[in-house]
Amino acid sequence: MIYPETVLRRAKARLEQANRAAQAAVDEIYEKYPRLREIDMELQKSMAQVVAATFAGGDVESAVREAKRRNLALQEERSWLLQANDLEESDLDANGVCPDCGGTGYIGERMCSCLRELCRQEQKKELSSLLAGKESFESFNLEYYPAETDPRLGTSPRRWMAHVFARCREYADTFSVQSPSLLFSGGTGLGKTFLSACIARQVAEMGFGVVYETVITVLRDFEKAKFGGENDDTATRKYLSCDLLILDDLGTEMLTPFAQSALYQIVNARLIAGLPTIISTNLSPSEISSTYLPQTTSRLLGTYELLQFYGDDIRMMK
Ligand SMILES: [Zn+2]
Repeated sequence: MIYPETVLRRAKARLEQANRAAQAAVDEIYEKYPRLREIDMELQKSMAQVVAATFAGGDVESAVREAKRRNLALQEERSWLLQANDLEESDLDANGVCPDCGGTGYIGERMCSCLRELCRQEQKKELSSLLAGKESFESFNLEYYPAETDPRLGTSPRRWMAHVFARCREYADTFSVQSPSLLFSGGTGLGKTFLSACIARQVAEMGFGVVYETVITVLRDFEKAKFGGENDDTATRKYLSCDLLILDDLGTEMLTPFAQSALYQIVNARLIAGLPTIISTNLSPSEISSTYLPQTTSRLLGTYELLQFYGDDIRMMK
């Protein structure tokens, strides 16, 4: 799972906060029952003494025996103190935030499930702030699409779009970083943004790192990174490395040479990395060919799965 840096940073901050709260709770108990703190320090010390004796080559056996005897006595007093004051063993465990990783968020190199869950939550929050807020497959309405047969399609837009809808849903249900890239092509108000938002939500809900942006914003970030004076690619790295990138509204941007090359870079870098991208555009495939660099076009039309949207502008009908 590769999350945008902002998401990872916020998730880590929350874990840190939880660790501090757990430590503060333990400190508070020690403050109230100083004898408990003494006992816990003693217990730690006697462990250290055994280890030291082992290394010093002294009489390890009798050191262990003596430590065991002392520990038993201390532990008995400790559990008596806990009972008498209505405390649980776990109340004094500052690692209680997560027993698997001790609250660090990582087990070796691997991200622990506690931090992953926080990332998932933060990722959802970030997407919700970008999306309109109510896109879901359940609320997609095929009745907005004409039921009469369109001779150019050989079927009705409604039946055509039922297939498109089913494919989007299946794509989200079975998403993995090996999923193919999709190209949504069709006129304004045919549900391209809506369905890509549905996919974004569900895939984020499944725990993947999702970045959803308009092409204009993405290009602005690339420009800032390039011309902003500093060689800082923090803002653009997420577009190249997230599990799923969704680029909305291709074709609305100012097509400068810089924009052309940045678009190529994004499409190509993700293709090489084997990471899926969803691009939506009002342009038809032939308009794409005549608008973008041949190397961009060949990748979009050659490797993306094309989903064409047909019908009447839903926004006008509403
Ligand atoms: Zn953990």
